[in-house]
Amino acid sequence: MFDLSGKVAIVTGGNGGIGLGMARGLASAGARVVIAGRNAEKSKEAVVGLERLGGKALAIEVDVASEASVEALVRATAERCGRVDILVNNAGINIRKPAHELALAEWRQVLDTNLTSAFLCSRAVHPAMKAAGGGKIVNIGSMMSLFGASFAPAYGASKGGIVQLTRALACAWARDNIQVNAVLPGWIDTELTRRARQEVPGLNENVLRRTPAGRWGTGEDMAGVAVFLASRASDFVTGAAIPVDGGFSVQG
Ligand code: NDP
Repeated sequence: MFDLSGKVAIVTGGNGGIGLGMARGLASAGARVVIAGRNAEKSKEAVVGLERLGGKALAIEVDVASEASVEALVRATAERCGRVDILVNNAGINIRKPAHELALAEWRQVLDTNLTSAFLCSRAVHPAMKAAGGGKIVNIGSMMSLFGASFAPAYGASKGGIVQLTRALACAWARDNIQVNAVLPGWIDTELTRRARQEVPGLNENVLRRTPAGRWGTGEDMAGVAVFLASRASDFVTGAAIPVDGGFSVQG
């Protein structure tokens, strides 16, 4: 039910943090994983790491904020792997400033990288998935898909948008047998949040106090949900937004 042998998965931002955790899960379930990031060196290291674990992987460079670059990624995947069955829209950034300090260019950079990218990548893989008789798209939201944060107006808007985009795509493509779901990670220890811990005073203590599990999540914590949403096990699950957060979102 969870076997991904013969499947090809693109993971944007798969060269670190949550994306790499998901890539490890998909590769260990048998998928061939395309690590799609900007930093070629980091992507190469991720591929070597996946191969060391016995997985099949390759790196293709992409800037997810660029329509041309996204089209080129999907074309290159089709040429080199022959198919694309799974897309994980994971690449993301944050610029931590309250709205009154945020420049329009910064707003656009966050929206383009976190939200427009998911639209572009999903639209680009749709023809191949439809022609193959189905596919799986996993979008990465956030606790900020649910809650507000004074220091993350553009990030919160992008992650709220991810949930609504997920629902729209799920409705549009269900008859094509393409399931589209979102994962809402809690606080996960990655490069992104290591920076946040430096920039937001008291964040570490707040996360530990507020998370019922009493710890930060890891990339490894994200592997299982990726395999579930990429596999036959989730064929009747679509349009869902699943928190993977150690209970953060249910803590009163
Ligand atoms: P990282 O900073 O570790 O990873 C972000 C990834 O995105 C990098 O691999 C980076 O690759 C890639 N990326 C950024 N911009 C682009 C771009 N323009 N084109 C291609 N790739 C890009 O952060 P996380 O692993 O923490 O974040 C991954 C996702 O999870 C993000 O969407 C984030 O918002 C979300 N998230 C994270 C949470 C957390 O607690 N860590 C909580 C909730 C959601 P490269 O360096 O090669 O550009």
